[in-house]
Amino acid sequence: MALIDNIHFLGHASFLIKGEKNIMIDPFKLTTTEKADILLISHEHYDHCSPEDIEKVIKDSTIIVTVPGNQSKIASYADKVADIKLVKPHDTIEIEEIKIEAVPAYNTNKDFHPKDNEWVGFILTIDNETLYFSADTDLIEEMNNLTCDIAILPVSGTYVMTAEEAAEASKIIKPKIAIPMHYGDIVGSIDDANKFKELCDCEVRILDKE
Ligand SMILES: [Zn+2]
Repeated sequence: MALIDNIHFLGHASFLIKGEKNIMIDPFKLTTTEKADILLISHEHYDHCSPEDIEKVIKDSTIIVTVPGNQSKIASYADKVADIKLVKPHDTIEIEEIKIEAVPAYNTNKDFHPKDNEWVGFILTIDNETLYFSADTDLIEEMNNLTCDIAILPVSGTYVMTAEEAAEASKIIKPKIAIPMHYGDIVGSIDDANKFKELCDCEVRILDKE
């Protein structure tokens, strides 16, 4: 099955990528009962690192991948999961067949996500297809060097890119398919996702929340 068909939108900035290993990203206000083999947490903000939701998705064999700044928030899970791996921007790790590259994610015209915090997005390589989950970011210069088949980009504005900025980012990244996120809760609406779709040059999939 193609990677795009395995990507499930769990609302806001939460995603599940199903496969031989279930990869969960930034679980928040989950309604699913799926467990994560690999749990990626981009940064410490409550809508990305939610203890209540982490509790729901972890199991003995889960590997958590997150940033050092998040360590205090997740230290209590160390005994409940197989491993917690800490990554900084540009680190690459491999978990069996899955390659996970941490990439920079930060604001340029607001202060919610300072570059110095070294928070991250992720580029996953799964069966030769690549998925970029940008996390909470603005359009940043590092996007010039990214390549991916599928890009998940925030569109709500306020804390992250607006729909217009995200569409600009998509023109730099040039994915085959772009998926809007970071709307429908806290900030942003489906209108932002639709506006993003209108402005992009590439195929855009607006995923239904599961
Ligand atoms: Zn954030």
